[in-house]
Formats: sequence, C-alpha cells, structure tokens
Amino acid sequence: MNRIQKPKGTLDILPADIGLWQYIENTVRDIAKTHGFSEIRMPTFEATELFCRGVGDTTDVVGKEMYTFIDKDGSSLSLRPEGTAGVARSVIENGLYAGAMPLKLFYLSNFFRREKPQAGRSREFWQFGTELYGSSLPEADAQVILLAHGLFKKLGLTKVTLRINSIGCPECRPSYRKALLDYFSQYESQLCDTCRERLQKNPLRVLDCKSPICSGIAKDAPKTLEHLCDGCESHFEKLKSLLDECGIEYVVDPSIVRGLDYYTGTVFEFTVDSIGAQSTVCGGGRYDGLLQSIGGPEMPAVGFGMGITRLIQAMKDENLVPEIDSGCDIYIAPLGENASKKAFVLAQKLRESGVSAETDICSRSLKAQMKYADKAGAKFVLVIGDNEIDEGVSELRNMKSGERVKVELSIEDIINKVKA
Ligand code: ATP
Ligand code: MG
Repeated sequence: MNRIQKPKGTLDILPADIGLWQYIENTVRDIAKTHGFSEIRMPTFEATELFCRGVGDTTDVVGKEMYTFIDKDGSSLSLRPEGTAGVARSVIENGLYAGAMPLKLFYLSNFFRREKPQAGRSREFWQFGTELYGSSLPEADAQVILLAHGLFKKLGLTKVTLRINSIGCPECRPSYRKALLDYFSQYESQLCDTCRERLQKNPLRVLDCKSPICSGIAKDAPKTLEHLCDGCESHFEKLKSLLDECGIEYVVDPSIVRGLDYYTGTVFEFTVDSIGAQSTVCGGGRYDGLLQSIGGPEMPAVGFGMGITRLIQAMKDENLVPEIDSGCDIYIAPLGENASKKAFVLAQKLRESGVSAETDICSRSLKAQMKYADKAGAKFVLVIGDNEIDEGVSELRNMKSGERVKVELSIEDIINKVKA
C-alpha cells in the first residue's frame, strides 16, 4: 500500500522537539504579560475579501500565495496567510475598539502561504504576533519593538539586528510613489514580469521583490526617508531617541519596506544573518489605515509578526536549546499478576497527587521494563513483586546516581522520597 505523506511544505513537530516549542511559547506568554498584552485566537480561515482588502491583492501573500476555496454555499474562504487582518476584523466585530485603550493583543498561531518551500520557509508556519491599537505615538512603536527585543534577550540570542525605516503616510506617500515610478520606469524592460505588472499599481512592491535583477535595480531607488513629511520625520526621530534612551541598538535601513500593503510610517525587521537567506526573524510596523479599510473606525495601530521556526533556527545556531526534562518522576516495574495490579493502582494514585508515574502496560520482562524506564528518562524506578507487597516495602532506585533507598509502599512515603 502507498504511504501517505504530509503535504509539501508542511512540518511535523515531533515529541523530541516539542519541549523547545513549549519553552518558546511559555517565554512568549511571560514576556507578553510583562508588557500588558493579552492573547487572542482567531479562526483559521476567514472571508477571502478580508485579506484582499486588508492585506492588499497586489501583495504576493494575497495575490499569489493564498489557499483559497469555495465553500458549499458559494462563498470564498481562505486559510489565514497572516494575523493582522484577522485580528483587525475581530477588533471591529467584537467592538474591542470601544474598550480600554490602548488595546494590546498577541497571538501564537499557524499561517498558510503557498510559497516555494526552503530552509526557513514553509507553507504552514507559526508566528508570534502582536497588535497594539489606539496610539499613534512613537512610544507605541517603541513598545512593540521593545517587546520583540525583550523576547530575544530572554531567550539569550545575541546575534539579532534591529533594522528600522519609515515608509511615510498618505500625505508623503504620493510624492514618493511618483519618484519611485519615475525611477523604475527607466528600467521597466529589465524588471521581472510580476514587477512590471505591479509597477503602475503599487511601485513600492518592486522594492520588496526577491529576484536578483529587481533587487539590484531597487538598491539605487529613491529612499522613503528623503520624502517624509514633517509629521513622519519627527515621529521617526522620536522613535530613534526612545530606542537610544532604552539602550537598544538599531540600524536605519532604507531597504525595508515590508511586503504587505497595510503598512504606513514606521517599519522594522529583526534579522539574524547566521540562519541563511531567510534571515528575517521578525517583521512589523505601523498600519494606521487598516481598521478603516475593512469597515472599522479610524484607529492607529502597530505590531509585528515573528516566525517561530526561524527563531528556533537562530537558537540552535547559538547553542541555546535548553535541556528539557521530559522524563517521568517514577517508573513502577511489577513482577507477576498481583504486583501488576498493585503497580497500576499505585501509579494512578501518584498521578492524582501530581507525580508523573508510569508502569508496565505491555506485560514485559523486568529487563525489558528497565530498558524502557531508562529510555523514557524515568528519574526513579520501583520494582515490586509478591515479596515486596507482603512486606509493604521495596527499594527505590535513583536512575541517575544508582543510589537505592528503602521505601514503604505508601503514596506518602513514595512522594516524600521522589520529591526529596
Ligand atoms: P519574508 O520576506 O521572509 O518572506 P515576509 O515579509 O513575508 O517574510 P511577514 O509576512 O511579515 O513576512 O511575516 C513575519 C515573519 O513570519 C517573517 O519575518 C518570518 O519570520 C515569518 N514567515 C513569513 N513567511 C514564512 C514562511 N513561509 N515560513 C516560515 N516563516 C515565515
Ligand atoms: Mg514572504
């Protein structure tokens, strides 16, 4: 029979790796809490129109990479390719914009993009994302940047570079758009098909193209920072001074424009060179027009998305994978029918008291059980046979030190010795 394989570009996260994922997720939740962000969970699929309007259909993410299907009632649905549009929809639909401001939300979710799978790029991937609504001040930009920075620091990463830029607001964008259009038009015949197509619709997208020819041309394109209005310029200056005050190092990188249409003003990325071509671990910025573009009130917002698999790669490269203890506290090895029953009940009582306990459920020999206990990383092993049951005592073996101590076959005594 043919074996069925996972779809191309998807990942199995196996028990051997899950400890690291959970460690990262716990650290994310801790740091989000210290910054006052609450968790939100959105649907895995949404109306396709949400992403077309919110993210923009000239973007690769929506225009080319979305998993879209027609539901039985004829409506078009798409697997979420990113989190910001879904959160924005939820903020509107649930009236969260009318509550306490600023509204600070985060998610740890999976997303779907039909991209070419490669290291650091899969078709289903995970992001830690934040969304801060209700403040147009640079302090809000700084707070989300500080949160991402704080997470990298807490995880022990040292080779992360923060890159910031401003891509201007609706006031300064038209003059920049014109400068870009003038510049790229000179090279129109050399641009890739997609860029030629999007040049008129959204010349900013050409700056984000990954083809070597387009990115070569884009290198000398006019820079957004030279076209900022006074408001955007002072906002950017204030952001830099806040980062300076907090001792956060950054590089002003005019090449950062981000791939999604909703960004306005501040944009930023955190990159780690050692993880290869997909070096952006985190990308974000301000999107003051998004809520209104999908039918909500006018409300400024800023946030980021951080790729968990790239974060994991960066941690592996810096040898930061923590020792994760997944073994049980105690393995009870029974010998014979009577002991089996006793061990089964004992293990369950121990679990009820919060001790992780295992026993034989495969009717194996003592030797095979000891081998299993060792593989399963049991900290203690307790062997019980008829004699031990009669006498009410046995020996508890510490699997690490080899030390053996007498223990009564009572829950209390076992817990005392295991937890000592
Ligand atoms: P890239 O330029 O690498 O394609 P992007 O600009 O498309 O990234 P965003 O949409 O801003 O990325 O997503 C934020 C982060 O999510 C990225 O910086 C990256 O760490 C991660 N990410 C995005 N797409 C993928 C993917 N296909 N596989 C794994 N991680 C991804
Ligand atoms: Mg991308």
